[in-house]
Order: sequence, then C-alpha cells, then structure tokens
Amino acid sequence: YPCDVIRNFSIIAHIDHGKSTLADRLLELTGTIEKKKIGRNLQVLDKLKVERERGITVKAQTASMLHTHEGRKHLLNLIDTPGHVDFAWEVSRSLAACEGALLLVDASQGVQAQSLSVFHSAKERGLKIIPILNKIDLPAAQPERIAAQIETIFGLDPSEIIKISAKTGLNAEAVLTAIVERIPPPRGSQTEPLKAFLFDSHFDTYRGVISLINLQHGVLRKGDKIASCHTRKKYEITEVGIMHPEETPIQALYPGQVGYIACNMKQSSEAHIGDTLHRVGAPVDPMPGFKPAKAMVFAGVFPIDNNDFPKLEESINRLALNDRSITVSRESSTALGQGCRLGFLGTLHMDVFRQRLEDEYDANIIITAPTVPYKVIYSRDDKEVLVSNPTDFPDVNDSTLRVKEVQEPIVKASIIVPEEYFGEMMDLCFSRRGEDLDHKYLDSGTASSSRIMLTCTLPLSEIVTDFFNQLKSRSSGFASFDYEDAGYKKSDLGKMTFLLNGKPVDALALIIHRSAQEIIGRQWVKKLHKVIPRQLFEVPIQAAVGKKVIARETLKALRADVTAGLYGGHYERKLKHLENQKEGKRQMKKLGKVDLPQEAFFDILRK
Ligand code: GDP
Ligand code: MG
Repeated sequence: YPCDVIRNFSIIAHIDHGKSTLADRLLELTGTIEKKKIGRNLQVLDKLKVERERGITVKAQTASMLHTHEGRKHLLNLIDTPGHVDFAWEVSRSLAACEGALLLVDASQGVQAQSLSVFHSAKERGLKIIPILNKIDLPAAQPERIAAQIETIFGLDPSEIIKISAKTGLNAEAVLTAIVERIPPPRGSQTEPLKAFLFDSHFDTYRGVISLINLQHGVLRKGDKIASCHTRKKYEITEVGIMHPEETPIQALYPGQVGYIACNMKQSSEAHIGDTLHRVGAPVDPMPGFKPAKAMVFAGVFPIDNNDFPKLEESINRLALNDRSITVSRESSTALGQGCRLGFLGTLHMDVFRQRLEDEYDANIIITAPTVPYKVIYSRDDKEVLVSNPTDFPDVNDSTLRVKEVQEPIVKASIIVPEEYFGEMMDLCFSRRGEDLDHKYLDSGTASSSRIMLTCTLPLSEIVTDFFNQLKSRSSGFASFDYEDAGYKKSDLGKMTFLLNGKPVDALALIIHRSAQEIIGRQWVKKLHKVIPRQLFEVPIQAAVGKKVIARETLKALRADVTAGLYGGHYERKLKHLENQKEGKRQMKKLGKVDLPQEAFFDILRK
C-alpha cells in the first residue's frame, strides 16, 4: 500500500457517545468483521465502574480495515486513544500516529466536557478533525442544537458535521468517505532509513512484548534487526502484522502503516511509549519530546493490620505491573506503620487504582489524603526541589532554610453544565481557589435549559480531594468536567502539623493554602478531640503552621488512679480493673506519651 491510500485516525468521544459502536460499524462496513458477530463479542468491552462514574473510556481499540473508494483500495487504521487527560502523554503519543480524528458527539446528550482536552491536543498537533453527530435515530436527538454547540465549543464549521446513527448504520458510509477524502495521507518513504514510532504495547505470554507501531519510513520484515533510540537496546523482529481486527501476521510493514511487532523484548518496561525504533547501524533522530510519564498525584496506602503489609505490598506490585505509569515506594509512619507511597498520573488514574485495590482489600486498607508535587525554590542557587510528601515540606517561615518561594501545580478546568446549576458551579470553583473565571453560553437563542461552559484555573490540589463528588452532587449529576495541565504558579502555602502533647504526628501533616489554614486547623483539632480517648494526664491537641499554633483543644485527664474510686479493701475488683487497663493498652499506639487506638487514626483519615 503506497502512502496515498493510507489513512490513520482515532475517535474522540465522551463515554457512551458511541465510540465502540461506531468502530464496530466501520469494521463491519469494510468487511473486517462479520455482521453477525457484532453485538456478541465486540460490544463486551467491559468498562470499569469508575470509568462509568467519571464518564471516561480509558481504552478503546486499534484496528486496520480495507475500504474501496472510487475503485481504489484504501487502508484505514483506527488508532486507540485513551480518552482522558490523565493519560495526556499516551493521548499525545497515539495522536502523534494519526493525521486525523473523528470527534463523536451524542445528538441527544450534547457536548460533554470530557473530550475537550483530547480535542485540544488533537488540534494542537494539526490533525484534521471530522465532527460527527451520533444517535440521530433517537427521538430525543436535537441535531440542530448540538451542531450549534459543536460550532461554539470547537469552532468547527457546522456544514462539515456528518449526522449518523452508529447503531442502525444510518449514514455510516459517509464516515468512511470523509476519512478518505478529508484526512491527509501520511508522508512516508521506503528509501529513507527505517523509523518506527512506538505508541502502545501489551504483554503476551507466548510471544513476549507486542508493540504497536506507526512506520514512518522504511520497510519492516521478520528477521530485521532494530534498536531503540531510548534504551539503545537491540532486538530481532520475530513477527510483524496488522490488527485486522485481531493480530494478523503479514510479510512486511510499509511506510505510513500501523501495525504490531513482536521482538525479543522480555519485559513490558522495555517498550517505552513514544520511543523511536531504527535499523541497527542506521540511527535516526528520535520523534521529538520523548519524556516519561510524570506522577502528579501521590497517596500513601497502609494496611489496617500491620501484619498484612507483605500481602498488601505484593498486590500493589502486581497491579502496578500492568500499569507502568504508577510509581511505588515504601513509606513508614509512626502512626500508621509500614505502607507504600504511590504516585499517579492524575485523579482518574488514582481512582481506577484505588477501586481495584479496594475490591481486593475491602475495608482493610487506609489511603491517606492525596497530595500533589509542590516546587520549593531556595534562595541559594535558586535550587528547585519537588516535594510530594507533606512530611518533607519545609517550614517556609524558618529563615535559616532560605525558602524563596513555593509553587503549586495548576490546571485549566472546563465545566459544562445546564444553566440552572451555573451558580452552584461558580461557588464550587471559588471555594476551591478558582481564578480567571469565564463562561460561555453554548446554545443560542431561547433554548430551554441552555448549557453553559465555565472555565477557570484551579490548583491541582483542590481537585484531588472530593472535587468530582461535589461537582456531581451540586449539579444533580449534570455537570461534566475536564482539565488540562497549566504549569506551576507561586502560592502562599504552609505545612500544617498536629501536635499531641507537644509532639507532631507525622501521618497528619497537610500542606494548606493560607486562606484555609485556620478553618482546617480548627476542624481537625475538633475531630481529633472527638476520637482520641482521654489519657491519665491532660493532653493539649494543637494545629500549627511552622511554629505558630493556630488552633487548640484540650483533652481533659482521666482520674489519675483508676482504682482510686474503689473502696480500699476490695482487692479482686482492683485487680480486674488493672487488667482491663492492660488489655486496652495492647491496641494502642504510643505517640510520645499519648496512647492512641489505631482506629482513631483511621477514623480521622478516612474522612
Ligand atoms: P462508547 O462508550 O463511546 O464506546 O459507547 P458505546 O459504543 O458503548 O455506546 C453506548 C450506548 O449507546 C450503547 O448502549 C449503544 O448501543 C448505544 N448507541 C451507540 N450508538 C447509537 C446510536 O446511533 N443510536 C442509538 N439509539 N444508540 C446508540
Ligand atoms: Mg466503548
């Protein structure tokens, strides 16, 4: 297949807008799969509960199909794109393998926020975007209104919109025609040195690592010797093929084609998404911007029963094996014992992992409040340090440390919501330190229940805890939300520590913006006061930022001697009392002089 008959594209869609159904229809129209098979095996793509709740499809499918257009056979490659900004790196890598994208919108639901960031990423890369309105067979479909939304939000010409029903197949042919006519072919050459772009991979028990590649230049055959630009390791190709729609071995891959290769890679970690492969002895310039995925949200995971730690660590490592973007290290805390500190690409990524872990562990683990990586800049040499664990955060007011400034990661957020919830959403954003608020009506004229798109910048730390739940409950489930990385910004942050009897409790350190320090300090001190049992002596419970105490409660002492209230001679009762006291001790954690039941901690941290 010469390049001019190849088209590489992906589908961008909010969950349930019909990405899988459309993919099936295209495969069926091109005879790639049989008609009767549909509905039986391809639609079974089992979605994670959290994907459903959050409205995001993490993975779709990659497949090649043949389509005859004006008497010429064309090779169309549908490339899988994760639908969420947390996977921005993978999204940009798989978009890098395409020249065009189908933007699929449900004509009854309208545009939802979740596809915004992927759309922006596709547009930035200069991909040709084909807008498609799906589900026009539904009585509730409002094609005119939604077409106007597409114009307002994406700036696309309404006359370019293709109206289809992926379910009934109505007008689906027009999609194939548009792919051929509107998306430019890749530009590859057989004579230039071999250059392949690796954009996805998975592990096969028999053949080892299978990598999906986009061949930019050259021809790739079994037996060829290749090398990775990133690792410099060398491999021999044992199989090449295309996804048609399952892995189908072929003789050779030609420039512009998308296919898979198997080589003697033993571990998934050797296949770096975004890597460039070349022929041994004929190096090429790698595709620009190779960088590994970067963790942006961190949380500690601890077993409630410390004896469970080895088992917990094992399951974490096993789950992380299938997801190379998770970082795992050990963390220990005086209050919670031994645990792991995990790093995730974003909040969705964390929720997916958390769900899997909780399914396995039920209520037997505790996950600490998520934190984000802060940048601490020191006056001396302008040294920059990334801090992702509150325990390591310096006291910014301690002049001997010479902290020049602290910066926090921020995001550009978009919320799409029916007009009547607009006020609630503004409130929510303000309460989370939203700035540069702006909004836009998506429906012109007097449409009932018009939709509004609200945009603002928010600190990433403000959306990692409970933001999504708030968004849903305050909009009766109607709001959709998406965000994009917007770099770092200087911020007035401080580390809050909690002291029991003058001793800080490590697991309870928080990094908080100045505007919220007093409220949070008071809340937490009250909570602690409620859950900590009285001791034999008076215990001050304090919240402090640096050395400054900002909230305090006092836990009154128990009577000094538990036996004091008993009448002198009753020896047996006295003994029993002492024994009870000992029993109680066993489940206690000692923090300085204070005894604390483990559950008290879990109670606090769970909220
Ligand atoms: P995805 O999450 O984007 O992959 O969406 P699916 O392809 O799984 O479709 C979600 C639901 O919408 C399924 O129940 C489909 O049967 C249904 N659906 C998809 N396309 C159409 C359509 O054109 N018309 C109607 N009525 N339903 C559709
Ligand atoms: Mg799907």
